[in-house]
Amino acid sequence: MAARHVISKKLQIEVFRRGRWLCHWCGRPVIFAPALKYLERFARSTGFSGPLAYHHAHWTRRDTPLLDYMGAVIDHREAHSKGGNDATDNLITACCKCNALKSDAKWEVFTAKQQRIP
Ligand SMILES: [Zn+2]
Repeated sequence: MAARHVISKKLQIEVFRRGRWLCHWCGRPVIFAPALKYLERFARSTGFSGPLAYHHAHWTRRDTPLLDYMGAVIDHREAHSKGGNDATDNLITACCKCNALKSDAKWEVFTAKQQRIP
């Protein structure tokens, strides 16, 4: 199995743009996580100090429901554990939910079960 490495923000954006900012699996729109981080920073810079729930470094469900639900993640069409690599054509846009549901399932199996938004 190939070693995993960090996918650059530049490559992430290329993949998200190619996917039209829609989850490949369910078709829902996704949000670039750094955008929510900057939104939170902006809100804090205005003096707001209460809970915002825009961003959390660990994407916790309780602290950042929007990020947990709509955060864009890079998914591997063919999972690393099944021999998939980091080549661009194996990288797709996914929402955090679908990525968690798919886990390392074969993409043919997962797409057969998934209901895509028309
Ligand atoms: Zn999805």
